Order: sequence, then structure tokens, then C-alpha cells
Amino acid sequence: MLPCHTCGTYQPHRQPKDDRERQVIRTLKQLKPHTYVEDYWICVSDERDCRNIRHRWNVKPLDPPEKMPEPE
Ligand SMILES: [Zn+2]
Repeated sequence: MLPCHTCGTYQPHRQPKDDRERQVIRTLKQLKPHTYVEDYWICVSDERDCRNIRHRWNVKPLDPPEKMPEPE
């Protein structure tokens, strides 16, 4: 298991939970509209409100790191 690049902890990470989150990742990574993005995970930390996005095998797929925005 890899740590979160932003908060540096081994907090649990979850997969994108809906199409809005998948689309956020595709936009950030400039991926095609239906690219598989389930290997991008979001840091889940109750204490820090982290929401940093990382890849399953890469702690820093985005430079600078990006947070998953909250729903509007
Ligand atoms: Zn984090």
C-alpha cells in the first residue's frame, strides 16, 4: 500500500464513486471521455479533508497534486 502524497498518511483511498468524479479525473489527466479511471483513487481522511487524487501505482500522477472537488 502506498501513502498519500499530500497528507503523507496511509489513510484509506476509495475509487471514484460516480460519473462526476470520473469526469473530474479525466479532465485533470486530459483523458478521453470514456477512459477507464477506476485505478485513480481518492484519499479519504476524516481529519484532514484531504481528497487528494492518486493513481493505484503512482502516488503523484498529477503535478501539482489535485483534490477531488466536492459536489456543487
Ligand atoms: Zn491524503
